[in-house]
Amino acid sequence: MGITKIVKKQKKYFSTQETKSIEFRKAQLEKLKSILLENKVMMYEAIQKDFGKSAFDTYATEFSFILKDIQYYLKNLSDLARPQKTTTNLSNQIGTSKIYSEPLGCCLIIGAWNYPYQLSLSPVVAAIAAGNTCVLKPSEIAENTMLAMEKIINDNFPSEYLHIATGGVEETTEILKEKFDKIFFTGSTKVGQIVYEAAAKNLTPVILELGGKSPVIVTKNANLDIAAKRIVWGKFLNAGQTCVAPDYIYCDKDVEEDFLLLLKKYIEEFEYTPDSPQYTRIINERNFERLEKLIDHDKIVYGGKTTYESLYIQPTILHNVQWEDAVMKEEIFGPILPILSFDNFEEVLKIIASKEKPLSAYIFSNNEEEQDLFLSEISFGGGCINDVVMHLSNDYLPFGGVGNSGFGSYHGKYGFDAFSHQKAILKKATWGEPDLKYPPYTAAKMKWLKILA
Ligand code: NAD
Repeated sequence: MGITKIVKKQKKYFSTQETKSIEFRKAQLEKLKSILLENKVMMYEAIQKDFGKSAFDTYATEFSFILKDIQYYLKNLSDLARPQKTTTNLSNQIGTSKIYSEPLGCCLIIGAWNYPYQLSLSPVVAAIAAGNTCVLKPSEIAENTMLAMEKIINDNFPSEYLHIATGGVEETTEILKEKFDKIFFTGSTKVGQIVYEAAAKNLTPVILELGGKSPVIVTKNANLDIAAKRIVWGKFLNAGQTCVAPDYIYCDKDVEEDFLLLLKKYIEEFEYTPDSPQYTRIINERNFERLEKLIDHDKIVYGGKTTYESLYIQPTILHNVQWEDAVMKEEIFGPILPILSFDNFEEVLKIIASKEKPLSAYIFSNNEEEQDLFLSEISFGGGCINDVVMHLSNDYLPFGGVGNSGFGSYHGKYGFDAFSHQKAILKKATWGEPDLKYPPYTAAKMKWLKILA
């Protein structure tokens, strides 16, 4: 069935009011959960085929997120959907004011390939929880996972409620011609602009979850051992193909030598070897070749080995890196970690602040003044002090970018709000009507108006 027909059917179905009841929404979430668990083996195999992602990582970074989201909404949906009472100002007495979270209608979600299940299905869970119908277009780059999602969703849900559309640029361009009530896009800044433009034609509100170069600052006041361990994990998880992965490190010159030794120690300890079934591969030949070109062999202090046949790139550390180097010109999105050094902390903040606003930023320092300056001087989507990546695993924090890394946010309550309209309602009593606002206007009325309004 063509996309135009599906969107039409979803709008018609939405207008029946069926998707709005809390019982209906919870039943769909329960159903999705059962389907995911029933098809777990097939879905794990698909992601393994796409880029060698281990069962451990698939559970930790894909399934557990979606299941946690479903659990969160099953538990909190009634509270989230309940009209929220707010203050009524004096001039609106006698009345009460409430905010109603209203489902938007037919939503489009476009996913990225790097966490193909999580980045596609977590927004779907939020959209369903908020009472919408939904079309999901996963990334065609992770083809097997796209087909796995198509199978489990399209076989089990009616297309008038939830539908997976497959395809690449051509198909997505067609889909974007439709008038949706919300578009939620995860992907690159370049494609984000295309989506934003297409949405503007229909005045469709969008959420753009984009990328960027996420910095890590390591100062001499850091616990170096913890910093190295956490950075190595966060950088080489998914072979660096993570939107919030540390892109580069700014390290204080005084501690750089010790820190490099610790980075190497943890890379060795975590066994990211060519034959490791636990280390994810690069998604395709195009990205492999792009990443190979970013490795400046004169600057390697660790790694640099690559195997084309298995799309393996060894965790690679580059040092003495400058902003003029190719690796600093684009988001790396792979297992290459450039180190830049500094001797003036405040200068580093200024340099980072002069670049495009990243999706994440991190600082390792136990000095509160440094932490405060980092927070106040650099704008970024979200991040951590003394950790990397983990902020996005807390459902009680909004997850999203700012500036070039996108706008809007989701996860937990923020996901529910992302797919809802906050309808503002003032309810007035039909007694006790003061004549103040009605003509004829008098000086006495003006006096009261100035007091009350
Ligand atoms: P991408 O922008 O190439 O593709 C994303 C989606 O857009 C895919 O579904 C693709 O089919 C579609 N698409 C591609 N070209 C299109 C076009 N011309 N017109 C319409 N649709 C098009 O991104 P990607 O390679 O899948 O993901 C990598 C990027 O996404 C990185 O920049 C990364 O930082 C970012 N990312 C951000 C987040 C986040 O949560 N903020 C998460 C993951 C990835």
